[in-house]
Order: sequence, then C-alpha cells, then structure tokens
Amino acid sequence: MVFTHRSNIPLFHHSNWVNMNIIVCIKQVVVADQVKIDPRTHRVVRSAEFSRMNPFDLFALDMAVQLKREYSGSITAITMGPKISEEVLWEALSAGADRAVLLSDTRFAAGDTFATSYVLAMAIRKIGPFDLILCGVRTIDSDTGQVGPQLAEGLDIPHVAGVKKLERRAGQFRVERVSDGFREILEMLSPALFTVSPKEEVRFPRLVEIQDAFDKYAIECWNLEDIGADPDQVGNAGSRTWVEELVPVPQQKSCTFIEGDPRQQAQSLWAKLIEKNLLS
Ligand code: FAD
Repeated sequence: MVFTHRSNIPLFHHSNWVNMNIIVCIKQVVVADQVKIDPRTHRVVRSAEFSRMNPFDLFALDMAVQLKREYSGSITAITMGPKISEEVLWEALSAGADRAVLLSDTRFAAGDTFATSYVLAMAIRKIGPFDLILCGVRTIDSDTGQVGPQLAEGLDIPHVAGVKKLERRAGQFRVERVSDGFREILEMLSPALFTVSPKEEVRFPRLVEIQDAFDKYAIECWNLEDIGADPDQVGNAGSRTWVEELVPVPQQKSCTFIEGDPRQQAQSLWAKLIEKNLLS
C-alpha cells in the first residue's frame, strides 16, 4: 500500500549522522473509563475534560528525547485531531520537542486508520527530510495498532513494531525488541519507522520546562490544503472501513462477599476455588 498524491518533497534525510531528525506521532485519546460512543454516528464522543495524551505515545516521545540527547538533532511532534489536541503538543514541547504541528480540519474527522495514516503521511512529506518516525504501539481508545505500520507502508519505508532499544551504528539503525520469548536484534537503513514498546518509567517535564515551552514555541496548525491532501482520501470519504454496528458486550462479572472469621473465610474461599475447578 503506497498512498497516491505524493508531493515532490524528498523523504530522505541524507544524514551526516551527527544530527537526527525525529518525528513523533502522538494521539490525544479519551480517558479509558470515559469512552462514550454516539449511538447515532458510532463515533467516539470527545471532550477536553476527558482527553489526554495516549499513554503509549509517552514512550515514543521519551525515546525521541533520549535519542536527541545522545546523538543531537531535532524532534517534531505531530498530531491529527480537533483543536483541543493542541494539549498533547504542548506536553511534547515541554518534554523536549522542538517543533509541533497540529493537523486539524473538519474534513479529517471520522476517518478510519487508513485515512488517518494518509493525513499523517502527507504532513510528514511537507515537514521534509527525516531520519526516523516514532509511534506508540497502540492507543487506548481505538486500539488497532495499525497506524504506525500503515504510515510506514504509505511512505514506503521499513518499520519494526514494539522496539525496546534503538541505536545508530555506521549509518544504520540497530533496534531490539522482544518477540515470542526471544530478544530480536534488527538492523535497517534510515529513514525508518518504529513503534515503541512500553517501559517501566518515563521522565515527565518539570514545571519550569512547561513554562519555557509556552514562552518559546508556537504550534503550527495545518489543514487539508496546507498538506496538499486529496479530499477523497481523508475522513469518512477516504475510509476503507466503517463501523456498521456497535453492540455492548454484557458484563459477566459478579461479586460474592465471603462471611465469617478469617479461618471460615479461608475455608469458604478454598471450597469455592475447588468448586470452580480453579485449583488442581
Ligand atoms: P493505533 O493504530 O492504535 O495507534 C498507533 C500509534 O499511531 C499511536 O500510538 C500514535 O503514535 C499514532 N497515531 C494514531 N492516531 C494518531 C493521530 N490521530 N495523530 C497522530 N498520531 C496518531 N474515529 C472517529 O473519531 N470517528 C470515526 O468515525 C471513526 N471511524 C472508524 C472506523 C473504523 C472501521 C475504525 C477501525 C476506526 C474508526 N475510528 C473513528 C477511529 C480512528 O480511525 C482512529 O482513532 C485512528 O485512526 C487512530 O487509530 P488507533 O487509535 O487505533 O491508533
């Protein structure tokens, strides 16, 4: 799958391997227990109050910041979403990004993953030469994990999912990921796209860094015309899939209180576990 309507901007950053131009894709998501679906349109209902940065994208951003520290270079954070999605870009700038681009246009709304990755690809073409793109492995509100690989396919660059470690060696990327109980080491040429595996902790910006970001930066906002996108490939019009029906799955959980003193409680619990065949 390669998106049509490419621009003539060269994709490849003929890097001198001193600087790394990194693009980080960040999505603003609806907080997990606040995901509400409009029953008529089958769309997620979004509000500023219940939105935040997709937690998996924090790891991509953190890796970008570490790579910049190690090799020097620049980080561009991009997000496609409504105006309120600016919030995640301010977070990215506070954490160490140098540039932030909001892709916002009512025509981008209601897109599936294909239409989303097309918009991201067109924006990246406008941004110009880069060495690598980092994405989260998945989101917590739509959770397809498709956007990263689709974006790489659309830009015709190699990609690896679930990367834990990334380093640059003699003009190549060397990445590490865990798959099926094995530690895989892969090497590839630049430019490439990686989705970043979660890790135990990430560094959050300090208050002074947040203040600095607001003093120092502005967010660029691009619409359909700015990125030279084809209106037939974005939003609902550009989607290859539709949500036909949404049926809530009945909750099977039940809660039983075990009465008595601790000894009786332990005996009752033991009996229940045996009854349900949960102990062998
Ligand atoms: P994933 O593939 O799980 O995300 C992986 C990574 O890609 C993220 O961690 C992030 O790094 C990057 N990424 C993903 N989205 C963005 C973004 N917007 N900006 C920057 N980086 C990003 N949504 C609606 O609001 N309205 C609809 O009508 C609608 N219809 C849909 C129909 C179908 C059939 C499907 C499958 C989805 C639909 N969606 C709709 C959801 C919408 O397609 C997704 O929100 C969007 O494409 C991102 O997919 P995802 O959340 O699964 O991302």
